[in-house]
Amino acid sequence: MRIEQDLTTGLNTGQNEAYLEFKSRLFTSIMMIAMVFSASFGLMHDLGLNQIGRFHAYVDYLYSLLTLVLLFLFKKERSLYSPILYIFLVASFLTFVSAFINVPMDQFRAIWFYLLVLAAYILAGTGLGVGFTALSIVIVIALNISTEVGLSEESIVSIVVGLLILSLITYTYTNRMVSYANQIEENNSKLKQLASEDPLTGLFNPRMCTAIGEQLFKMATRDGSPLTVIYMDLDHFKNINDTYGHQAGDQVLVHVAKIVNSFLRQSDVCARLGGEEFCAVLPETNSQAAAKLAEKMRQRIEQTIEHIGEVDLRITASFGVAQKLPTDQSLSDIQKRADQALYSAKKMGRNRVIAE
Ligand code: GH3
Ligand code: MG
Ligand code: MG
Repeated sequence: MRIEQDLTTGLNTGQNEAYLEFKSRLFTSIMMIAMVFSASFGLMHDLGLNQIGRFHAYVDYLYSLLTLVLLFLFKKERSLYSPILYIFLVASFLTFVSAFINVPMDQFRAIWFYLLVLAAYILAGTGLGVGFTALSIVIVIALNISTEVGLSEESIVSIVVGLLILSLITYTYTNRMVSYANQIEENNSKLKQLASEDPLTGLFNPRMCTAIGEQLFKMATRDGSPLTVIYMDLDHFKNINDTYGHQAGDQVLVHVAKIVNSFLRQSDVCARLGGEEFCAVLPETNSQAAAKLAEKMRQRIEQTIEHIGEVDLRITASFGVAQKLPTDQSLSDIQKRADQALYSAKKMGRNRVIAE
């Protein structure tokens, strides 16, 4: 139902949405840090404070510039998260490879691969985390064999084992984070359901009836279209509880809710207001059409037999119907008249539909 979706969108911050928001913010921060620090490395080189070689200083400037562009792009278009992230990770990897080859005087430069693996796991998930771990290990070993990177075999073993350990820990952490986020989302949707649903019948509860009904009221006012409310109350329901027990009463309520719901359209709102009272709000429907519909419901309820154990139960219901008037200020104005009509139906002998 469209309106229901419109209304619940505000509440519906699903796992993916919340988790993506968290990752988006983190990604922005990481890009900013990468941009500032790579530019600083280039600058420090040019100021003679930290020699990283002319070539790698240019690589750092280029990387910083590219990150700045990616940052702007990402700020403008959040939906480009994945492509921007992939470009950023690949650019970072290439920059770190350049550092590994071109800055041999820095014996600690393998640390950049660690940061990359960490970022890949957290921002892109376990697949790319594993991928960048493998790629980093392969490149470190291959470069050590093919070029003069100047690291001892023991250093390479430490780098590789360290990368594997970091990868394992981050793999576990990322998996836990994702299932934790899923759990939160599941709980949220359960809470949302509890907050909007009548637990016995699965119909909307009064709070949701009012919320959606008021939206329908506003739309009807705006479009000048008809809107009608049907109130329904089961007849002598107390007798059923007293004679057959509360559980039997509940069974009847579920049975009646199903009947009422089966007569309504997707765009209608149907709620249990409490006890054995129900309310339906019908957009694009005038009082005559709603009264006809209520009459059909009344007949179906009267004709259907509910089996409670050995007993065959017959039940009847009374209906009050009221249409929105131009002078109405809110849904409750129509509801009051529907309630009065229902009261008249009861007074006139029950098991009938009265339209005001
Ligand atoms: P009337 O025809 O005038 O409506 O008579 P009634 O007995 O249906 O009306 P009344 O409002 O006096 O009684 C409603 C009864 O509904 C009282 C209570 O026993 C029962 N009831 C209220 N909530 C529930 C519920 O959640 N489950 C069950 N089984 N019964 C409920
Ligand atoms: Mg009743
Ligand atoms: Mg009642």
